[in-house]
Amino acid sequence: MSNYVSFRCGLLLALAAILLGTRPMHAWGGKGHQIQARVALANLPAEMPAFFRGSTEEMTMLISEPDRWRSAEEPALDETTGPNHTFRWEIAPKPLPPNRYAFIIELAKQGKIDATTGSVRQYGTAPYGIQEWAEMLTGAFRRWRAMPEKTPDEIARKRMQEKSILFIAGVLGHWVTDVSNPIHASIHVHGWSPSVPNPHGYAGPNDDPHGRYEGKYVDHAIELSDVAPLVDGQARAVGDWLREAEAYIAASNSHVEQIYAWDKQSRFGDGHEPAEARPFTAARLADGARELRDYWYTAWVRSGQPMPAKQKKAANKKGPDE
Ligand SMILES: [Zn+2]
Repeated sequence: MSNYVSFRCGLLLALAAILLGTRPMHAWGGKGHQIQARVALANLPAEMPAFFRGSTEEMTMLISEPDRWRSAEEPALDETTGPNHTFRWEIAPKPLPPNRYAFIIELAKQGKIDATTGSVRQYGTAPYGIQEWAEMLTGAFRRWRAMPEKTPDEIARKRMQEKSILFIAGVLGHWVTDVSNPIHASIHVHGWSPSVPNPHGYAGPNDDPHGRYEGKYVDHAIELSDVAPLVDGQARAVGDWLREAEAYIAASNSHVEQIYAWDKQSRFGDGHEPAEARPFTAARLADGARELRDYWYTAWVRSGQPMPAKQKKAANKKGPDE
């Protein structure tokens, strides 16, 4: 029976690999994200649980999970989680409002949401995806720490909690690493934005370098061995989730024009890219891997600290769900 099950699983995985290989990928493409998952895990401190540090095979799959939530049968999911893949740093209200809804309300207050399209897609919500899933991971680690594992039932439940933790960490990993691609942290996410001047004649929406850069180029030019030496084992505890995401996205955004300038010199994906693009791209992938390692590590550290006091909500702010 178990042989039959593993045979079936093997077939399904092979089929999934074929299907995933042929569908368009988003942000870094599968290869870039996999490299980042491997480098982030390899540089975690030894104090983190062994099940987490040893999850390389699971994590290389789970880190791309949100890119699989965008099929034709998931239009609502795509609309709500799709914006988490990007952030248009240049046009975002700053400092970032404290949570996703406050952000949308602020955009509305500033007259920035087009009521005819009714979408926040033109802004992106990556820092909020990062914030929410980092909180979720912290809570999941906290519950894991408190779980006994003496009886067979307790042991089984704790193993299940570990699967849940890896899933959450993988999704968080996607949001964190997506915006290490400067194109994902910018208004120039689908070609140089027509909303700003383009004196150098960078590629516009019709010849968008986005997919060519993060997919085609990374596939043929970048290997794990280019990225791994750029990240050391010095894990850093980050501060407030959102303020950290804000600074990290701003830094990534500062690199976007360089990609367009090289693309104008020689199109990404055509195999004749400038040599300097390779260390540059490895550095961007390393930035994402380092940041992810630090988010995972910080969630773990926080989960071992006393639970913060619950902030009281003002009576007049209570909603009908409470
Ligand atoms: Zn993505």
